[in-house]
Amino acid sequence: QKPQPSDAAIAHSFTPKTIGRLAREVGLFSEEVEPYGTTRAKVRLEALNRLKTQPNGKYLVVTGITPTPLGEGTTTTTLGLAQALGAHLHVNSFACVRQPSRGSNFGVKGGAVGGGYCQVIPMEEVSLHLTSDIQAVMAANSLVVDTINARVLCESTQSDKVIQNIILDQYYLVSLFQNLFQLFFTLFTRKVCSRPIGIFARFYLINSFQTPSKQLSGYVASEMMAVLALSTSLGDMTRRLARMVVAYSRKGKPVTTEDLGISGVLATLMRDAVKPSLMQTMEGTPVFVHTCPLSDIAQGNSSILADQIALKLVGPEGFVVTEAEGGAELGMEKFFDIKCRSSGLHPDVVVMVASVPALKMHGGGPAVTAGSAMPKEYSAENLTLLENGCNHLKRQLENARAFGLPVVVAINTFSTDTDAELGLVCEQAKLAGALEVVPCSHWAEGGAGAVALGQAVQRAAETPHQMNFLYDLEMPIDDKIRVIAKSMYGADDVELLPQAQKKVALFSKQGLGNLPICMAKTHLSLSHDPERKGVPTGFTLPIRDIHANLGAGFLYPLVGTVSTGAVTHSYEPAQ
Ligand code: ADP
Ligand code: MG
Repeated sequence: QKPQPSDAAIAHSFTPKTIGRLAREVGLFSEEVEPYGTTRAKVRLEALNRLKTQPNGKYLVVTGITPTPLGEGTTTTTLGLAQALGAHLHVNSFACVRQPSRGSNFGVKGGAVGGGYCQVIPMEEVSLHLTSDIQAVMAANSLVVDTINARVLCESTQSDKVIQNIILDQYYLVSLFQNLFQLFFTLFTRKVCSRPIGIFARFYLINSFQTPSKQLSGYVASEMMAVLALSTSLGDMTRRLARMVVAYSRKGKPVTTEDLGISGVLATLMRDAVKPSLMQTMEGTPVFVHTCPLSDIAQGNSSILADQIALKLVGPEGFVVTEAEGGAELGMEKFFDIKCRSSGLHPDVVVMVASVPALKMHGGGPAVTAGSAMPKEYSAENLTLLENGCNHLKRQLENARAFGLPVVVAINTFSTDTDAELGLVCEQAKLAGALEVVPCSHWAEGGAGAVALGQAVQRAAETPHQMNFLYDLEMPIDDKIRVIAKSMYGADDVELLPQAQKKVALFSKQGLGNLPICMAKTHLSLSHDPERKGVPTGFTLPIRDIHANLGAGFLYPLVGTVSTGAVTHSYEPAQ
């Protein structure tokens, strides 16, 4: 069997249709489309207004087992399902995915959305600047940082007004450099460094001491990106940006972007970023690629507006396939309890993606290291490891079923899978309550390889169902955290460390107790320990601290040692 060409080679072998044609095909008017080049466009929110009375299409959410380095292919399956429905079963379909964020290492997974014969094209456009939304978020973040610093400088003589806490950790370093710069300036020129020069120095230093990719990874993790993804209109985004707490005064008073007088400018900087970007799969079906909040420390789902517009465009007989990143206990839980709560949308079917190699790793298979040969456990049949690993699939299936919807399991087949292995996963998933289990070969065959999955999903969408949330917003904060930890992660209990306890008391007193919860937990395990694969048991989930992101509108518990990178601009009132 000849090996499949690389993702890049496959992507380059397809020619996309022009964006004008794609937009017409999905029913957009030319005045609702803002082309960027010839193969991507922003879609104006006016389209949503025009289609207000149109009934929504069916709404499918694709989630997966806990990610491993062996790959589950959640994005690939999201696109493959949309291709199967749109290009092979001839119903209207739309895929909605997150924009790839090139992290500090410029993307460990290479630069693509999807894989094999299920990708968004052109690959370079979707992988890099797309329509500059990330750049807009960066600019907005910089404005907040610069404004705070300017205020700190200007008010440094009026001690009661001084803003004490600055939003980005790395910023302290920059301030340090700035002070050194001022000192040297004074020494060498024998003049006192004026404030404007100081600010200029900091601008210079920010740009010269932080690599752009480092900045990017911090910025996309920011609350600003979460706000963008959860907004339901331009007005909603403006209000969310205005109530973001970015610092607090020495007296402990929260300082919002509105207090700083910059909320309007922030909204202006982000007014194009709020419009979803339209692109296409290699089979010409439409895709919205929009926003990139991370799944471990933010809500991990693409934007509400993309889903809303797509649901109108496909019409009542059509399907929108949206991806919830990370394992089901994380991205999918946040999809329901945060994203659906904000959007008011109720999905019809959950698609749970699993792969045989990944399940074997959850069943106790050896770790894989980049560069060395694939252990034989993954390339040859091993039913013992796989059966063990199916316990993990069952656990994640229970998680998916907790929201009241039919769950279809998609086995993303790898060339090394054997019939006996696929049979075992089908049997085990059925036992665990999957409505249907479908092995699919879309990675190797495109949409044609996921037609059976498409049909299963069509049937599932017709079954009667009633979506529910996992917890009531009215519950006390610690009880909400406990419900998620016990029912989704399988923890025996949670342990709130002193700082977290203090925050529970404080937030409850401040009337923030009824916000939803966005757990900041590793996505590499059901538990808080990334090393523990499979179904970890006998653990208590440690909650280190809790932050409040008032713009995004959620409380944000830090689980175990999870790292938040540069995201520290949450509500941190003085004690
Ligand atoms: P996820 O969304 O779960 O992180 P992706 O869909 O982005 O995963 O896929 C990650 C990588 O795995 C891609 O490079 C893709 O080409 C590869 N991949 C996906 N499915 C398969 C498969 N069935 N066989 C081999 N490689 C695959
Ligand atoms: Mg993905």
